[in-house]
Amino acid sequence: MSMNDAPSSVRLHIGFFGCRNAGKSSLVNALTSQQMSVVSDVPGTTTDPVSKSMEILPAGPVVIIDTPGFDDEGGLGALRVRRTRQILKRTDLAVLVVDGTKGLSTADEELIRLFQEQETDCILAWNKSDLIALSSDPGSALIPGSAAASIRSVRVSALTGENMDLLREMIAQAAGKRSRMSERPLVGDLISPLDLVILVIPIDESAPKGRLILPQQQVLRDLLDHGAQALCVREKELFSVISGLKTKPALVITDSQAFGHVAKTVPEEIPMTSFSILMARYKGALQMQLKGLSAIQSIQDGDRILIAEGCTHHRQCGDIGTVKLPAWIRSYTGKEPVFETSSGLTFPEDLDRYKVIIHCGSCMLNEKEVASRNRHAASMGIPITNYGMVIALVHGILDRALRIIPEAKLQ
Ligand code: SF4
Repeated sequence: MSMNDAPSSVRLHIGFFGCRNAGKSSLVNALTSQQMSVVSDVPGTTTDPVSKSMEILPAGPVVIIDTPGFDDEGGLGALRVRRTRQILKRTDLAVLVVDGTKGLSTADEELIRLFQEQETDCILAWNKSDLIALSSDPGSALIPGSAAASIRSVRVSALTGENMDLLREMIAQAAGKRSRMSERPLVGDLISPLDLVILVIPIDESAPKGRLILPQQQVLRDLLDHGAQALCVREKELFSVISGLKTKPALVITDSQAFGHVAKTVPEEIPMTSFSILMARYKGALQMQLKGLSAIQSIQDGDRILIAEGCTHHRQCGDIGTVKLPAWIRSYTGKEPVFETSSGLTFPEDLDRYKVIIHCGSCMLNEKEVASRNRHAASMGIPITNYGMVIALVHGILDRALRIIPEAKLQ
């Protein structure tokens, strides 16, 4: 990804679902052929369908997730449902492609139930409109009051291109709705224009070559948007930089890995927090993840802790999850819990075996996926917290890291 591309985690994720002969692939092609510029292909695994980042006008940057036919004979029922649920966890908008000459199948109805269960916005595309008489309305076969009857629908033809603009327009509406939802502040509301803010960015072997990672880019951009002055330093230079400053910084934001060092180096009266705490707040997970943190205090020998990471490739968090966190938790609690890990887009369904879940900063996951993981944990009554909060806790600086955030209440 170059710095100029919209990162995948902020794009609208559109999943195309349907049965094998509904014409799903041709519809995706027809929808995207003239307008798309493929900027990256994320290779799929067996459980992970192919995702493509592209531009669809007028919606803007999106990720298209092409899913296998839901009625695929090869897949077992339960597995098929589980896979679809997994995809829906990161799908902002589901397009259900139905063969308009045949009407809704039971598999389509099952899909609609899954969309509703996962609170995923949906558009029903009656495909093959070129084969349906103009006078007949495929939607009229829907039973009034049924789940499908309340879904917005459109007659389209992948073959003739009929109503393709209308479908693009409906997708753009969904994108607009979502961007209004994510207008939560990142950091701009915590500072004033012209404030000096120091960003502590460790540059070690786990830092990607030649660029900054997404949370750093987003915080930097938000500070600039709000007219603040941002000063980026590595933790090694922090002491010299702070000592030489004439203006007192309004805030220091650090990578949570350097929390311990930064807390010692930055004078107590200067507010300090981490990129991960700001991101948890931005993604609407702050209160819940703070609540989950208290579970760390009551860990006993043999309790299972799930360390969940959002990506497998090019992990930018180095060995925090696998080495550092387990060591810190053992020494903080004096107990011997059992650590298990999950990574990438596979997040376990059966969470009841865990006493607590510690999630990474989720910089590679979109908001829908983060929200659905949090909701899943909440529905099973399993506390969930994040790396930055745990690191602050074990270093004894949690209160300090939250002082700047008005709505952060320790529970
Ligand atoms: S998604 Fe998680 S594991 Fe991957 S780089 Fe971001 S914070 Fe690290």
